[in-house]
Amino acid sequence: MTFHSFLIKYGEIGIKGKNRYMFEDALVRQIRYALKGVDGEFLVHKCHGRVYVDCEGEYDYEETIESLKKVFGIVGICPVVRKPVKELEELKKDVVAYVGQMYPEGNQTFKVEARRANKRYPVNSMEINCELGEAVLEAYPEMKVDVHKPDVRLNVEIREEVYLYSEIIPGPGGMPVGTNGSAMLLLSGGIDSPVAGYMIAKRGVQLEATYFHAPPYTSERAKEKVVDLARLVSAYAGPIKLHIVNFTDIQLYIYEKCPHDELTIIMRRYMMRIAEHFAQKDGCLGLITGESIGQVASQTMQSLAATNAVCTLPVYRPLIGFDKREIVEISEKIDTYETSIQPFEDCCTIFVAKHPVTKPNTERIEKSELNLTEKIDELMQTAIETAEVITVEMNE
Ligand code: ATP
Ligand code: MG
Repeated sequence: MTFHSFLIKYGEIGIKGKNRYMFEDALVRQIRYALKGVDGEFLVHKCHGRVYVDCEGEYDYEETIESLKKVFGIVGICPVVRKPVKELEELKKDVVAYVGQMYPEGNQTFKVEARRANKRYPVNSMEINCELGEAVLEAYPEMKVDVHKPDVRLNVEIREEVYLYSEIIPGPGGMPVGTNGSAMLLLSGGIDSPVAGYMIAKRGVQLEATYFHAPPYTSERAKEKVVDLARLVSAYAGPIKLHIVNFTDIQLYIYEKCPHDELTIIMRRYMMRIAEHFAQKDGCLGLITGESIGQVASQTMQSLAATNAVCTLPVYRPLIGFDKREIVEISEKIDTYETSIQPFEDCCTIFVAKHPVTKPNTERIEKSELNLTEKIDELMQTAIETAEVITVEMNE
């Protein structure tokens, strides 16, 4: 079967009036972006309160569907066969041929749902429903009409052309990226943070990211892995501005000056401070981490409180109540898992203490940080100034 268009279904709750235009425009923009790398020529447009993708000539069907399934805001994708508008007898033939190709077993229940956007068409929707239903029954006697719960809803829309569709491929849901401001993701090479970024982007938030590495203790390959992860997330989230921060001197300094069981927490607090600096500079409205309560010592309630204390922006932790197993499931679904489990060293694991505190007291941590007064501002300044900033995207 050759499909000529895709009708894009999107959730409409809460998107009335001015918001609706914003939502639709963002959706059109994100669909265009997603299809940039796909073989074929596509015209994405709004028409009568709907969004269509028209395929101009040859295109790769599988790749198109795969790409559309990554656009947040899409609830369903309906592949459409377009035919010229003809009188009813001829239209019947087209519909019967469509049903024959789509449902070769010919034993489903069905219902015809005609819509006449082009009111000059001389037959009304009710009559079209009856006539086409009869034609289908005649051609495929095993099929039955069920107006309440049909297996197949046969949509016939009469516009400048006739649009035939009956299949709905589920989309990812959510809201189009760009409809809800932007936020800064603390992106490590692990399993969790790419999933956290995905989940917040799904709500329409544009992502930026910050990664901390510690050369030469962490390798170039570890950094490439994070760039790869950012690229995988960008297949959903669109282009991501990634800040790569050299954290080595700060880590060494903390290691030299602070109690070793507090290293991870203090390091984490400096990561948050630096990420927040970049966030505020670019107008991001929040930070995002992949933390989940109790997963490791640095993610107990006390640790999270101590880390949180240095931030003024809200910190979004979409995985906070998830088990690792549930996070892994999402990372497999969004295709980041295989990259995340590549074994490269992380800056946090290198300087980690044997017995880190699990119940840090924020005041005590603040006191330990006083040991850093002499050089820390200057080191932070240098880390910020020497950060490498790149834009990562899937379809480059
Ligand atoms: P992940 O799988 O996301 O690495 P994790 O289970 O390894 O998480 P931690 O290492 O405790 O957990 O990190 C908690 C969160 O802190 C991460 O989800 C991430 O948001 C942030 N983070 C940790 N290390 C880094 C890093 N090197 N660069 C940027 N952010 C980091
Ligand atoms: Mg990690």
